[in-house]
Amino acid sequence: MNPDAIFDKLARRIEKYRDEMVDLQMKLCAIPAIAPSSGGEGEAKKAEFLADWLQANGFVDITLIKAPDLDAPAGYRPNILAYYRGRSQARTVWVMTHTDIVPPGELSLWRGDPFKAWVEKGRVYGRGVEDNQQDMVASLFAVKALKAEGIVPPSDIGIALVADEETGSRKGIDFVIKDVKVFRKQDLIVVPDAGNEHGTMIEVAEKSLLWLKFKTLGKQAHGSTPEKGVNSFKAASFLIAALNDLYKIYPVRDRLFDPPISTFEPTKKEANVPNVNTIPGEDVFYTDMRILPKVRLQDVERTIRQMAAKIERKHKVKITFEVQQKAPAAPPTSAQAPVVLALKKAVREVYHKDAKAMGIGGGTVAAIFRRAGIPAACWSKLDETAHQPNEYCIIDNMVGDAKVFGHIFLQE
Ligand SMILES: [Zn+2]
Repeated sequence: MNPDAIFDKLARRIEKYRDEMVDLQMKLCAIPAIAPSSGGEGEAKKAEFLADWLQANGFVDITLIKAPDLDAPAGYRPNILAYYRGRSQARTVWVMTHTDIVPPGELSLWRGDPFKAWVEKGRVYGRGVEDNQQDMVASLFAVKALKAEGIVPPSDIGIALVADEETGSRKGIDFVIKDVKVFRKQDLIVVPDAGNEHGTMIEVAEKSLLWLKFKTLGKQAHGSTPEKGVNSFKAASFLIAALNDLYKIYPVRDRLFDPPISTFEPTKKEANVPNVNTIPGEDVFYTDMRILPKVRLQDVERTIRQMAAKIERKHKVKITFEVQQKAPAAPPTSAQAPVVLALKKAVREVYHKDAKAMGIGGGTVAAIFRRAGIPAACWSKLDETAHQPNEYCIIDNMVGDAKVFGHIFLQE
C-alpha cells in the first residue's frame, strides 16, 4: 500500500476515536494533578491511571520514573515513558506532554466544575483539557490507531508523560533527562505545549530573559529646596532614558523572532514618597529585557553598569542593580532540524497550512532538551486558554493533532 493510503487509513481510524478521546479527557480531568507547591497532591493518581491505560492499549516497555518529593503524599513525582515499536530502533519519535495542571483559580469564574469536564459546541471544558491533555490524548490515540490498523511504523515511537511542568520541571523532564539516557540527538522530539490557533507556529528558539531591579539613592529634602537634597527619581528617570539606548547598542535582528529584536523595557515602579512636596531620596524601578540568543548577557550587563556610572557621576546619586531573574536562552533548534521539517509536512497534510519555525520571548519546556544538546520543537493547534477559567479544548484540534502525530509517526 502506498504511504498516502496508509495515512488515510490511519486518519480515518483516528476520526472514529473522537468520542473515546473525549471520554479519556473527562476521566483525566476528574483526577486533578496539582503540584504540592500549589496546594495539590501531585500527579501519582493520574499517572497510575495513565500507566494502566497504556498497558491496556498496546504500549510496551512502560517505565515509571519517580522523582523523589517529600511534599507529595506519594513521596515522589511520577514520570512515564512508553513505547510502540517500529521497524528500526535507530531513532525514536517522541511526543512529550505533561500530566500536571495548574489550580482552577477563582471558582466563581467557572461556568461548571473544573474537575467535571463538560462538552459544549464542539469543545471540552475543564482544568487541564487544553494544557496539556489535548495533545496527551491526541498522542495516545495516534498510537492506538496505528496498533488497531496493524501498522508498524518506520521508527520507534516514544510517549513521555511527565510531571512538574507548571512549577519548573525539576521533578519532571529535567529529572528524566538526567536519570535515564533515553533521549538521543537523532530522535525527533515534539513538545505540543505551545502553539497558535491555526497550528502554524513551530517554536524552535527563545530569547534570554533578564529582569533587573534598579535602586537609586539620593538625598531626601523639602520640595521647595531641591538644592539641599539629591532627587533620586529625577536621576533614575535619566537612567531609564539612557537605558533606551540599549536598542541602538544591541540592534541585532533575527527574523525567526517576533519582534525580531532584543527588547529592553522599564516595567515596574515602586512607590517613593507619599506626598507631593518632598524630593525623593530613594527610587526603585525594574526592567524586563528579552534578549536575542546572539547577544551575550554579560555584555549587556557591562553596558548597563557603564550607563549607571555615568548617571551616578552627573547626578551625584548611588545606583545599584540586582538580578531578579536571569535565564540565558537555550541553543535554538535549527529551523531545518528533522523534527521541524516533519511537523511542517504533517501540518500541511492535515490542516492544509504552512507552519513556520519561530522564536518566542518566553521560555518553554523544550529548552530543557535543547540545553542537553537534543533538538526539540514545540507545536500544537490551540486556542491558548491554558490557566484561564473555563479552559477548553476544541475537539477538532485534539483529533486533528492526533492525525499530525500519526503523520509524523509514518514518515520515513
Ligand atoms: Zn502546559
